[in-house]
Amino acid sequence: MAGPNFRTGFDPRYSEAVAMVDGIARMTVNNPSPFTFHGTNTYLLGTESLAIIDPGPDDSEHLDALVKAIDNRPVSHIVVTHTHVDHSPLSRRLQDIVGAPIVAEGPHRAARALNLGEVNALDASGDDEFRPDIKVSDGDIIEGHGWALTSHFTPGHTANHMAFSLNDTDYLFSGDHVMAWATSIVAPPDGSMKDYMASLDVLLAQPQQTYFPGHGGRLENAHAFVRALRAHRKMREKAIYEQVKAGKSTIPDMVAVIYRTTDKRLHGAAGLSVFAQLEELVASGAVKTDGPPSLEGNYYVTT
Ligand SMILES: [Zn+2]
Repeated sequence: MAGPNFRTGFDPRYSEAVAMVDGIARMTVNNPSPFTFHGTNTYLLGTESLAIIDPGPDDSEHLDALVKAIDNRPVSHIVVTHTHVDHSPLSRRLQDIVGAPIVAEGPHRAARALNLGEVNALDASGDDEFRPDIKVSDGDIIEGHGWALTSHFTPGHTANHMAFSLNDTDYLFSGDHVMAWATSIVAPPDGSMKDYMASLDVLLAQPQQTYFPGHGGRLENAHAFVRALRAHRKMREKAIYEQVKAGKSTIPDMVAVIYRTTDKRLHGAAGLSVFAQLEELVASGAVKTDGPPSLEGNYYVTT
């Protein structure tokens, strides 16, 4: 079966506010990596008065470029999709300059409590200092000058992930939940595969079909892509189950087979994705392990 049709063509044009459509510009941070692609996208929404969506990492060069692009226009909101260090920390320094409230679902937190002895492999990626001034829940509307955003609670990549649709348009800011260039990282304990899958359905329930993601280029015909993502994860879950059945009992053994064509630098992250799927397989009773599912655990099926 064909996987999602990933689109990896992208010209980051660092420090430039690149017009996407009327009233939306994108500025990409110069923080490329295997996880951030060419870098984090910040969006400037509005014309006379702005919202800044995902200011980015604590990066002075990006802040300077952003302030220049804002060009003394009032900023009414600083909106944050989720609290990873490549998206939210600059909100504080930006707020010191523009004075707008920071809007987000809530502080950084894990999707579940740590199990006894478990080390959180993602600890360094969370922006633990983050505190929103305005907390939004699913369905809340953020109104600015000439635009309104609707909040969509979309946990999975992080427990506090929000997507925002632009009312009366075809546009949706999808954060790191859905991106055109690659699948989202879903890694326990911060992330949850069960939440992620449900959050794909949340987006499918919205009419918008053009997404502006946290990394990489815009996504058009988004619904077909989201459905393909859903099918891709289900197929991966089946592949993992088959590996366990074939006697591959550890996560590294499964990754070596399932991700054999993937960049080795991403195998650690792939292991976390496999772990996320195994949590689901254990919860459903299809796969067994001793004690709570863990990265180091042994997995097996009983027939
Ligand atoms: Zn990100």
